[in-house]
Amino acid sequence: MSRPRPVVFLDRDGTIIADMHYIARPEEVALIPGVAPAIRRLNQAGWAVVVITNQSGIARGKLTEADYEQVRARLDALLDEQGALIDRSYHCPHHPDVGGPCDCRKPGTKLHLLALRDLALDRRRTVCVGDRWRDVKPAFALEGRGILVPGPESPPDEVERAQRELATASSLGVAVDRILGAS
Ligand SMILES: [Mg+2]
Ligand SMILES: [Zn+2]
Repeated sequence: MSRPRPVVFLDRDGTIIADMHYIARPEEVALIPGVAPAIRRLNQAGWAVVVITNQSGIARGKLTEADYEQVRARLDALLDEQGALIDRSYHCPHHPDVGGPCDCRKPGTKLHLLALRDLALDRRRTVCVGDRWRDVKPAFALEGRGILVPGPESPPDEVERAQRELATASSLGVAVDRILGAS
């Protein structure tokens, strides 16, 4: 039996692709420079890469589940062109203002726990990476690491909090340097 893989939980919008707000069409998918090689390095080092994304645009009626699926497929295809693989993607389609609270919207950890179970991953080696505090906050519940990679949508107070309580990195590539260096 092989050893369970460690996992990086990656945010999507503003972390892997440019945050266009409620991306509904595959043509809107634009990889952030440097992310494909960074994900490829995680693949090569034996880390699982799992995307966890809040897609409240579905609850708000700005996109459908089918739109989301098309965008996900486009992202996977763009990464594949550069030899990078997302092991699995999970999304929360809810928004508390529309249907009430849910357990899967980040910083909730329902989807992280689902991924750990679905893919039989190593629960003791998890890293949460994203451009918002809610992306990295699950690190506390998971007792793993969290690295905030600031982007245009990152509020300064969230970046400062991550600096104090978890960690920050200037790019996904730098975050991966740190993840692989410490593993
Ligand atoms: Mg984001
Ligand atoms: Zn949800």
